[in-house]
Amino acid sequence: MTTLPPIIEALREAKAIAVLTGAGVSKESGIPTFRDAMEGLWAKYDPAELATPEAFARDPEKVSRWYDERRVRCSAARPNPGHRALADLQAWCGERGKSFTLITQNIDRLHQAAGSHDVIELHGTIWVWRCTLCGDEQEERGGPFERYPPLCACGGFRRPAVVWFGEMLPEQALRRAFDTAEASDLFFSIGTSGLVTPAADLIHIAARRGARTAEINMEPTSITGLTDWAIHAPAGEALPRLAAALV
Ligand SMILES: [Zn+2]
Repeated sequence: MTTLPPIIEALREAKAIAVLTGAGVSKESGIPTFRDAMEGLWAKYDPAELATPEAFARDPEKVSRWYDERRVRCSAARPNPGHRALADLQAWCGERGKSFTLITQNIDRLHQAAGSHDVIELHGTIWVWRCTLCGDEQEERGGPFERYPPLCACGGFRRPAVVWFGEMLPEQALRRAFDTAEASDLFFSIGTSGLVTPAADLIHIAARRGARTAEINMEPTSITGLTDWAIHAPAGEALPRLAAALV
């Protein structure tokens, strides 16, 4: 972990810190990645056949059942040390008048459960189900639904408020994410492959504006050679060490 001291120095100097997180951060909490979720009865399906508006239109019962299984699995998951270290880092920044913005591709809200606030959710959340007719949104924290798809009071089908393949990202979240990247002077990419745009563009936007950049990921990714620092370790190990070194 020889890269730690320079990153600590960069954190102390930075005024606007932006962090992008992906599935790698939640994996240590037992949240299955998209591919991992295709197991058991679902092994015969291609994720692209379940996570599209066309799939929901074709078979809302099957798609909502699959997402509800994921939702119930998420309810058993707890934040891991990586989530908690990012919440600590936000508090540390707040005490020093630095801006800190967390942007996530994860839909599980484990960052919020760990104490992070004002999180930008690029891919929505599995906890909110939206009516496809009237747009009403409900937070669903209980056990499995009684019917699939769940129904709105208006009679419309409810779907998870997540971003499906072929759908636009929520406009306000995306705008905030781009603004955050542009304004940052230190940008972290954590637990994400750096391949899925537009999230993958954020680090390049930050770098073009002169921000220093760091990656924390289990394996090297397409952005590894482009960042100022790279730590190849689980986020649940690297982030607590980083947070501990600050105090
Ligand atoms: Zn409705």
